[in-house]
Amino acid sequence: MLRITKKLFTDLAIWMGSLGFVIGFLFPPFTVILGFDPERAYSVTFWIICVLAGILVAFFNYWLANKIVRKRLKQLALHMRKVEQAIDNAVHNGDWSECSPEECNFIIDSEDELGDCAKSFNDLVGALFRSHEVEGAVTDLTKALSSQLDLDLLSRKALELLLHHTGAVAGMVITSNSGGEVISANHGIRNPEKIMGSHHVRLAFTKREIISVKIPQDVHIEAVLADFRPTEVLVIPVVFKDAVLGAVILATAEHFTSDTRWVIQFFRQGFGLALNNAVIHGQMQQMAALDALTGALDRRFGVSRLQDEFARSRRTEAPLAVLMLDLDFFKQVNDVYGHLTGDRALVETVKVIRRVLRESDVVVRYGGEEFLLVIPGANRETARMTAERIRESIEGLSLTEGGRVVALTASIGVTSYPEDCSAEVNDLVRSADQALYHAKEHGRNQVVVFSATCIK
Ligand code: GH3
Ligand code: MG
Ligand code: MG
Repeated sequence: MLRITKKLFTDLAIWMGSLGFVIGFLFPPFTVILGFDPERAYSVTFWIICVLAGILVAFFNYWLANKIVRKRLKQLALHMRKVEQAIDNAVHNGDWSECSPEECNFIIDSEDELGDCAKSFNDLVGALFRSHEVEGAVTDLTKALSSQLDLDLLSRKALELLLHHTGAVAGMVITSNSGGEVISANHGIRNPEKIMGSHHVRLAFTKREIISVKIPQDVHIEAVLADFRPTEVLVIPVVFKDAVLGAVILATAEHFTSDTRWVIQFFRQGFGLALNNAVIHGQMQQMAALDALTGALDRRFGVSRLQDEFARSRRTEAPLAVLMLDLDFFKQVNDVYGHLTGDRALVETVKVIRRVLRESDVVVRYGGEEFLLVIPGANRETARMTAERIRESIEGLSLTEGGRVVALTASIGVTSYPEDCSAEVNDLVRSADQALYHAKEHGRNQVVVFSATCIK
């Protein structure tokens, strides 16, 4: 409409010039109506002067419009071009620092359509920048989640990236395993065990939905959470298929924005799959680490489990017992009944041990006929009683070969952290070993508890 050329300001010039001309042309008759002398009013000279004056006023208006509107439009266009180049560079070199809203926003100094236009442009830059940030977060998380199979490393990396991309100040990752839930990563949460057992975490596990806890300023919160004052805490259950594999807890001093919630939702799905892969990988490793004859853990994997249990025990201050069991005169069993019977005896021994221990306890084939047993939660006395039950059960085994009963007994050395004051895993194993040595020395088929003087 009203368009003549493809250039706005050329159209404006033509329209204004034409209007000036028409006004100038129609001016003399008006002067006559107002009483001006018709002879002079309709003279060619007066007509030319009027038309020229009309055109002059029109072009003066055009000049003003040019000065006021075109200049601003030009500034906006130049700014848009600059931002476009910055975005183009950022796409190529990955550095988006020059495209942040602070760098690229247009200063809005008019409250009209031009101002609206600049505001929309600023909003567009902001949306683009945020979308880039979300995309960056998603790429980072995808990379991290797909490149790690070790559960603890995966959890730590995932937490680090989540804190970075969501602006959360503290967080932790809880993973579920056969023995219950464990904390596989923590940053800035003071008492993670207490948080792990909290009502909100339980609720997130059962509901399988993200739970947001908003903490109003006037509410007193326990200092267990973090060193800063959180305003919102999210409990994010991590689900794969129908199983809850763990949960992530994030605490922020601000509120989580819709963009960060989107990142969290994306992360949640990816983390479920990654955790599941890590768990399967762990199980496969465990299968690979099982002793083929007895099904007990092999020594390398068993020691690594002991290290995990010891670390957990130190963290939670729960006791941890280690038993070293060695079959007595086993060489003779082999010599008298044959190697195959010896093998059967080893298999039966592990079965007996398993029957006495709980599912979460660890049975390790430490050497040929030597077993390391790890019992989380058992103090020295409980461990001694358990060892005694194992010893009695092995003694009571009715293993027969060619109609003859194979007599089988075991000696067991017992120790328990923290009563034995072990500072590291090796100390625990050494103490149990020493107690076992004493059991052998003092006649075998007995349990000896480690103490400073190693009194039975
Ligand atoms: P001690 O009471 O002092 O422990 O006497 P021991 O005979 O049990 O001790 P020693 O270390 O001299 O013998 C261990 C024997 O265990 C030697 C080895 O033939 C046997 N052994 C180790 N691994 C296996 C296995 O996988 N199968 C069988 N059948 N025997 C094994
Ligand atoms: Mg032996
Ligand atoms: Mg031995």
